[in-house]
Amino acid sequence: MLTVKKLPKIETTLEIKESFKQLVVDAGLTMIHQGLTVGTWGNCSARDPETGLIYITPSGMDYEVIQTEDIVVLTDRLEIVDGFRVPSVEREMHVAAYNSRPDVNAVIHTHSLYSTVLGVNRMELPGISEDFVQIVGDKAVCSEYVLPGTPELAANAVKGLGVERNAVLLPNHGALCVGTDMKHALTVVTVTEKAAHIYIMAKSIGTPQLISMEHIREMQDFARNRYGQR
Ligand code: 13P
Ligand code: ZN
Repeated sequence: MLTVKKLPKIETTLEIKESFKQLVVDAGLTMIHQGLTVGTWGNCSARDPETGLIYITPSGMDYEVIQTEDIVVLTDRLEIVDGFRVPSVEREMHVAAYNSRPDVNAVIHTHSLYSTVLGVNRMELPGISEDFVQIVGDKAVCSEYVLPGTPELAANAVKGLGVERNAVLLPNHGALCVGTDMKHALTVVTVTEKAAHIYIMAKSIGTPQLISMEHIREMQDFARNRYGQR
C-alpha cells in the first residue's frame, strides 16, 4: 500500500538549521538541472550529524518552486518537528537509510534514465569504472520490485545498500544514492548514472569486461587513503 499516513508532529528543543534547509533546496535544483530526475519526482534529504534531525523535500512540488520554508524536518522515528508541508512519500526510505548507515548524512532518490533502464530489466550495475568502484562500491544491486512509497520499498532499498554500497537500483522506478554529505551524495548520483549509461552502451556493442574484486578493493583503498592532496 502506498503510504498516506499522517505523521505525528512533536516539539523539540534541538536546533532547526536554515543552512540544512538551503542545502536540500539546492540539491533538488542540482538534481533537476542536471537531468537526474524529472518533474516533481525524486526527493532528497540531509541529516544534521549534530542533532540527528533529517531535512527532506516536500511531496510533489516543483524543484524550481521549493523554498527553505517548504522543507520538512523529521526525527529518526518519522515525527515532524518543523515544516507545514507534507513530506516526500519516500520519507520512510530516507529515514531507514540513515538509521541503517551511521556514515550516511545525505540521501538522494532519482528517477534517472539509464539507472532505471537496468532496473526495468532487473539487472544490477557492476563496478565497471574506476570512479564508480571508488565512490559507489563494488556494484549497485537491483532490489526486489515493490510499490513506491511503501515500507517494503524502504526495507528492500536498505538491504540493497548493505553496509558499504552507496547506490541501489529500484526496479521500474529509479535509484537511491547516499553519501557522507550532500556533495558526496550528488557525486554518487552522477557517477552511478554515468556508469549505467556506459554499461548499457558497452553491452549494446560487445561484452563488457569487468574489474576483478582484487582491483576493486585496491582502488577503494587508494581512494580512501592516498588519493588527492594530502
Ligand atoms: P515525492 O514527490 O513525494 O517526493 O515523491 C516522488 C517520488 O519519486 C516517489 O517515489
Ligand atoms: Zn520515486
